[in-house]
Amino acid sequence: MTNWDALSRLRDSMPILAPGHVWLAGAGPGDPGLLTLDALAGLAQASVIVHDALVDRRVLALAGAGARLEFAGKRGGKPSATQTDISERLIALARAGERVLRLKGGDPCVFGRGGDEAMALAAAGVPFRLIPGVTAGLAALAAASIPATLRGVNQAVIFATGQSADGGPDWAALARTGQPLVIYMVMHNLANIAAELMRGGLAPDTPAAVIAAATLPSERILISTLGRVAAEAREAKLEPPAVGAVGEIVRVRERLVAVAAIATGADPDR
Ligand code: SAH
Repeated sequence: MTNWDALSRLRDSMPILAPGHVWLAGAGPGDPGLLTLDALAGLAQASVIVHDALVDRRVLALAGAGARLEFAGKRGGKPSATQTDISERLIALARAGERVLRLKGGDPCVFGRGGDEAMALAAAGVPFRLIPGVTAGLAALAAASIPATLRGVNQAVIFATGQSADGGPDWAALARTGQPLVIYMVMHNLANIAAELMRGGLAPDTPAAVIAAATLPSERILISTLGRVAAEAREAKLEPPAVGAVGEIVRVRERLVAVAAIATGADPDR
């Protein structure tokens, strides 16, 4: 059965990616099982797929036979194309009559510049559609058996970026909310972020986790405390992409992981 057959059976009305249109879609955190059916419909129909470095090759392998793949994004943390270049490329491809799928890791609009691209397409009068994806923060929590919210524990969950390009958030103020934090792009700045959160009042023994390469074969999970997490992540040689999680929700993993591992056959010490 082809992707298309499977999709037609699953959906009554398949969204059509028309020539001259752009879909800005999320590819999820890596595991193709976490693609949306709409993103898969885009992969099946696109004539050109413009992807970033976070899109796993198992996802790109689902592209239709005639699709051309173009890389546009950052590699090794160094910008290899500016945001303006990428937006202009999407506009040019659409104007040339291509069926364009812009595929980004996670969700296109969560720390992913999807909003910038949507605004550029809108300004150019290019028809587009935004397709959400499973964002890495939520996928990483699920991979680590950490519930994002728990009744009686938290009434909010804060998504923050550790990248300081725009100055970064006020970590001490976020700490004072008492709500758990899910921190993207956490690796380069982990020691500073942890110090700032403690300055904001979080205790050094506040549970903290780093989840690297969530849902990928190389996935690694470190469970620690705010006071020790930066040193332990360094010792464990954890590498990006990784998400940090801070707060009482992290503690729940202990109670879930043994049973979750039995259910999946996974090794809880991984
Ligand atoms: N739009 C993406 C985020 C892009 S920013 C999303 O919604 O997920 C890049 C950051 O995403 C990385 O630094 C890391 O914090 C996180 N990330 C992306 N994929 C990841 C993965 N498989 N495992 C852990 N973190 C991931």
